[in-house]
Amino acid sequence: MANDRFGRFIHYLRISLTDHCNLRCVYCMPEDMTFRPRAELMQDDEILLFTRLFSDLGFDKFRLTGGEPTVRAGIVNLISGITATAGVKSLSMTTNGVLLERLAQPLKQAGLQRVNISLDTLDPQRFERLTRWGKLEQVMAGIHAAEAAGLAPIKINVVVVRGYNDQDVGEMARLTYQHNWQVRFIEMMPFAGQTNFQKQQVVSDAEILERIAKDLGEPAILNHGVLDGEARIYRLPGAVGNLGFISSVTHPFCAACTRARLTSDGKLRLCLLKEKEVDLLTPLRAGSSLEELRQLILDGIWNKPWGHDLAKGDVALNRTMSEIGG
Ligand code: SAM
Ligand code: SF4
Repeated sequence: MANDRFGRFIHYLRISLTDHCNLRCVYCMPEDMTFRPRAELMQDDEILLFTRLFSDLGFDKFRLTGGEPTVRAGIVNLISGITATAGVKSLSMTTNGVLLERLAQPLKQAGLQRVNISLDTLDPQRFERLTRWGKLEQVMAGIHAAEAAGLAPIKINVVVVRGYNDQDVGEMARLTYQHNWQVRFIEMMPFAGQTNFQKQQVVSDAEILERIAKDLGEPAILNHGVLDGEARIYRLPGAVGNLGFISSVTHPFCAACTRARLTSDGKLRLCLLKEKEVDLLTPLRAGSSLEELRQLILDGIWNKPWGHDLAKGDVALNRTMSEIGG
């Protein structure tokens, strides 16, 4: 079992399959982003070996992310391999949805259970401005394909950016009247690459909630305010779906954190918002034994930072969000 020194049981691993992406969202990476050569990324057999190692340590919940995970060649086979690993109870993916229309069915057949799809606005022009060149209709087709394939419950991730889509939060929330989706509003977090933009254009969850309440009426808090993963959950009167608020900046949820991340270049990242990492891929490629790798993981998890220090102005600047995997 992987426990940290604060008594948290860490059993949720987010694996970034690639830092490459087919969009360039303004809050995530610069337009002229350079990506890693493929040889520096974990290969399929390396990802499968790490999956086995982590599941042997009690990790049972896995999420694939990126960059954009669906641009990775051979993703369907890779997912089959991950779901066939003993101990993997839950496998989900965070995706921009662009390629889901074609991939949703094969991914489901390979054993993927659920998807979170990022969609910040329903306005085609504002969508293109936020993603720098994305086509809204591709993502909408991807969402519907995911639903038809049974990759449910569908969660929609909305990063709210002042001056870009803050006027759209009511319309995004309105989706829950007709769809049994969870529409999750995410406070923008600062990383390398776009730090000033991320700090200046952030919209707090209190402001988002207020805008939704003004447009659509007061949503009721569910679960007595207990977090569902990292989200506080609400429901609008008469809605079939629900709303989630992920407020890492104004309401950190570090005490309840159960997760670790594996970056696409094989580093164990212990906190999304801290620079501390443990290199696992270099030792693996240099011939370390499974027992040595296992010990590196256990030591890393034990020393997982308590949480972030955004309130003190401490920003992790060694990677962009897309390089860590959200
Ligand atoms: N490409 C996939 C996608 O967009 O869903 C997966 C990777 S992306 C880095 C994972 C999530 O992080 C997405 O929901 C994205 O909107 C979110 N994200 C990116 N940059 C962010 C930031 N600066 N603050 C908060 N969330 C961010
Ligand atoms: Fe790509 Fe996702 Fe980052 Fe947008 S948020 S640039 S889709 S990795």
